[in-house]
Amino acid sequence: MDAIITLSQLHPEFFYVFVFLVSLMVGSFLNVVIYRLPIMMERSWQAEYDSYFADSDDVAETGSVANAGAAASVNAAPFNLVKPDSTCPKCGHTIRAWENIPVISYLFLKGKCANCKTGISPRYPLVELFTAIACTFTAYHFGPTSQAVWAILITYVLITLIFIDVDKMLLPDQLTLPLLWLGLLLSTSDVFVGTTDAIIGAAAGYLSLWSVYWLFKLVTGKEGMGYGDFKLLAALGAYTGWQGLPVIILLSSFVGAIIGIAIMMIQNKGKSLAIPFGPYLAVAGWLTLLYKDVIITTYLDMVL
Ligand SMILES: [Zn+2]
Repeated sequence: MDAIITLSQLHPEFFYVFVFLVSLMVGSFLNVVIYRLPIMMERSWQAEYDSYFADSDDVAETGSVANAGAAASVNAAPFNLVKPDSTCPKCGHTIRAWENIPVISYLFLKGKCANCKTGISPRYPLVELFTAIACTFTAYHFGPTSQAVWAILITYVLITLIFIDVDKMLLPDQLTLPLLWLGLLLSTSDVFVGTTDAIIGAAAGYLSLWSVYWLFKLVTGKEGMGYGDFKLLAALGAYTGWQGLPVIILLSSFVGAIIGIAIMMIQNKGKSLAIPFGPYLAVAGWLTLLYKDVIITTYLDMVL
């Protein structure tokens, strides 16, 4: 590791290439997390539900215990981020190591399963490429510093959150809460902001969206966003400080409104269409982490 840091300081290009290649591989793992984490959560909810109602006499009388037992045996095979091996959803063919090289295997296999030739979603290589480009850009922005390494780690988590939210309208606590703790811990060494700014940023981030949520609910009777959004903004506030929050909220609302209106016009589904807010928060938070000072200075120059 020391050798990599020394080499990176002497030759920054080495650092960027290193980040690009590592992020391609991490992107491949993020695909697994994006697909499996929601399933793992659903299974644990189901198991909790089953164990709760299996103890209840009411359920025993209606014969649901047998169903709970069946569900438990279905869930008995290990399913986590490592097990089982990835397989083709169509033919069950186990993906071999050479078929799992980021982007390259996809191109080599022409986007098809090596066994049954069923098409593989181009989203997999695109997520890998997107992760690599976003992280190399982050590395370039911060240079070979510890800030860059933490910002890259944050970028990995944000990309995972974006795609899980798009797929499932869900921002898992397993990702948002560690992101928050990490932000608060890093503030003790002033990595991005100091501790006071980070703590106020996290609390104000949560409360600001929480207030909007309740105001919106009282006025319209609808839920405009979820608790995951509050937690995500709390986490982002821990990295940007409270000073970054107005920037994140304005950027995400602006981009969210434009894309939301575009989607409504294209799909013609009208007002009832639910659009996740997490991706906009994540992108706005990432931009704010990188460009907070530039954005705030430019804004103040325009106003004052
Ligand atoms: Zn197959």
